[in-house]
Amino acid sequence: MNDYIIEAKNIEKTLGSGAGKVQALRGIDLSLRRGELTLLMGPSGSGKTTLLLILGCMLAPSSGQVSVCGVSTVDADEEGLAKIRRDHIGFVFQSYHLFPTLTAAQNVQLALDIRGERGRKARERSCQALKMVGLEHKTNAHPHELSGGEQQRVAIARAIVANPSAVLADEPTAALDSTNGQTLMRILASIAHERGSAVLVVTHDPRVLPFADRIVQIEDGRLVEGRSDEPQLARMPKAANLGM
Ligand code: ADP
Ligand code: MG
Repeated sequence: MNDYIIEAKNIEKTLGSGAGKVQALRGIDLSLRRGELTLLMGPSGSGKTTLLLILGCMLAPSSGQVSVCGVSTVDADEEGLAKIRRDHIGFVFQSYHLFPTLTAAQNVQLALDIRGERGRKARERSCQALKMVGLEHKTNAHPHELSGGEQQRVAIARAIVANPSAVLADEPTAALDSTNGQTLMRILASIAHERGSAVLVVTHDPRVLPFADRIVQIEDGRLVEGRSDEPQLARMPKAANLGM
């Protein structure tokens, strides 16, 4: 069985036009494996978000190929890409994007609603996802009653409730303090290790390094380290060894 959930080959991406044209990605090869948490690190403007959006089929590359669960997306139209996203991918962003008038459980349930799943079963699945992120006692709380870390955990529950093969997170700890950031990374690592999802975390926060199975560096739209699909950097201390 192919362990790669998302495979991207020779990705180029040009953004903007005229004098504002930027070559955001240059010849990127990157694959995400099931059960592995990959960190994508690099300075601001290096192309991290652009790459995450392309891996998540939210943005088409200018050239190159993306496959999700063995299926090439080259010929997919908008609707086809939306289906791939619904079937396989969960997203988490720096700002939590929760609906303020909905409870935590209702926010999570929205992800099932767009997949046509409603009713008691959907409610149960949402509560289970909230349990997975340690918020089973907050199912009826509204976002303003939750801390930033808790709101981000609701966003993670929403990302995983439909059981995606891959979870892509763009700077998920950027707005959080160290303790909340570590709790969040522990949750993302358990989604990789216990549920077997491929997890990609975009960050420039070195505090999250111990949670990585694999680290990939990007600079000026090129991968500069961890270019291949080599497994984790053996020298990186694991979170467990640091008492986290
Ligand atoms: P990062 O997430 O690493 O900060 P981005 O992927 O957001 O980087 O951006 C990569 C490069 O592309 C940057 O130089 C940025 O200014 C540029 N860029 C991003 N979005 C657009 C856009 N819509 N139009 C033009 N340039 C863009
Ligand atoms: Mg970014």
